[in-house]
Amino acid sequence: MEISVIGTGYVGLVTGVCLAHIGNKVTCIDIDEEKINTLKSGISPIYEEGLTELLQENINNGNLDFTSDYKEGLAGKKFVYIAVGTPQGEDGSADLTYIDKACESIAQHLEENTVIVTKSTVPVGTNEYIKGKIESNLINEVTIKIASNPEFLRQGSAVYDTFNGDRIVVGSDDEETLNLLEKINEGFKLPIVRTDLRSAEMIKYASNAFLATKISFINEMANLSEKIGANIDHVAKGMGMDKRIGNSFLNAGIGYGGSCFPKDTRAIISIGKKAQYDMPILENVVDANERQRDILVDKVLKKYKDISGKKVAVLGLAFKPNTDDMREAPSISVTNKLLANGAIVTAYDPVATDNAKEVLSSQVKFAKSIEDAIDGADIAMILTEWAEIKAYPLESYKNYMNQAVIFDGRNCHSLELAKESGAVYHSIGRPSMN
Ligand code: NAD
Repeated sequence: MEISVIGTGYVGLVTGVCLAHIGNKVTCIDIDEEKINTLKSGISPIYEEGLTELLQENINNGNLDFTSDYKEGLAGKKFVYIAVGTPQGEDGSADLTYIDKACESIAQHLEENTVIVTKSTVPVGTNEYIKGKIESNLINEVTIKIASNPEFLRQGSAVYDTFNGDRIVVGSDDEETLNLLEKINEGFKLPIVRTDLRSAEMIKYASNAFLATKISFINEMANLSEKIGANIDHVAKGMGMDKRIGNSFLNAGIGYGGSCFPKDTRAIISIGKKAQYDMPILENVVDANERQRDILVDKVLKKYKDISGKKVAVLGLAFKPNTDDMREAPSISVTNKLLANGAIVTAYDPVATDNAKEVLSSQVKFAKSIEDAIDGADIAMILTEWAEIKAYPLESYKNYMNQAVIFDGRNCHSLELAKESGAVYHSIGRPSMN
């Protein structure tokens, strides 16, 4: 099939590359010319395992190309995927500015009857809006059909997830469009859920809202466990063995971040408001997550009272491991709070340093390794559970720090090893060691 993908961010680029890999002819369009030039030379502007290899392979075999010119990018295409950002607006609802602009550009250059496929996460009813927006701006006499194909990939394992996800959702109010979408997606060999437009849009929000709820729930159980002398590792294991609960997403920590859960939970609350329906569960999920981000610094402040002039090593900055994405990363509020209390902060992340420099305070110093970060530090704080950080032995901290005092916001280490290491070790929902 001949496909254009609009937007080459985490979702658009991975979608474009993977659609090319299963044999489609794909042109990716982005308004960011620098990004397009980088991509044309076979370099991925984002870090995702396996992406660069697939990108180069499909450029070389002629299945994939890139342009910032809509006319060139849409020529001869029968399917146009929209994968531009839908960030959080000021009132919490999804901001559709990028969608609007993309629709206007599509309408101006569309020369074929086309199926518009929305990958971006958009509020219920937006696909009908997109259809109307494009139709009212069309220059040529063409017909369009519309489909929703929400994305469920996880940053950090985006390519893997595209070929190994749990399901693909295709939504349309037109049977023939659903058949075409099903045909394109057959190449991924995953279960396909066929549904109407609005249900497809709702599946995406309901899924993210449920996952965010699971995280806030286990964090609440962790905070209580700590107060009453229980261990959240054991609690989560015992809970997760019940198949109705399931054992994934039961890791206590300093809360969720990233470009999806925070904005999508707020957006569904806003969808509820517009439908005059309150969503008290989700409102509390959002509040609980905000509070959870402070919990590790609060532990530090409780122990030290005054951290002014103390050297703090922050290990892990990205909102989760295996990505360079800093959007809504808990490390932002944690470092700000440390600095506001007078601490001297040195941070280390295996891949997110460049992006972190753009969003963290200029007072944060950046280290090139774990050792470099903890050298001479009074306190070490683990904020992202990178494999490298998890594998770094607790007993090695004392070789570099003034005294090995570790606050682990992701429960990277077992309490047994923490005890053996002799380090002072605080974590989430578990007793402190030494
Ligand atoms: P992103 O910010 O990484 O990328 C968006 C891209 O769109 C950018 O490269 C930008 O330059 C480009 N763009 C903006 N306006 C454009 C226009 N008019 N024409 C062409 N290109 C344009 O965003 P993302 O993380 O890939 O997310 C995209 C959508 O997918 C969002 O709705 C998001 O909620 C959803 N989503 C994201 C993830 C994720 O893990 N990132 C997962 C599932 C769904």
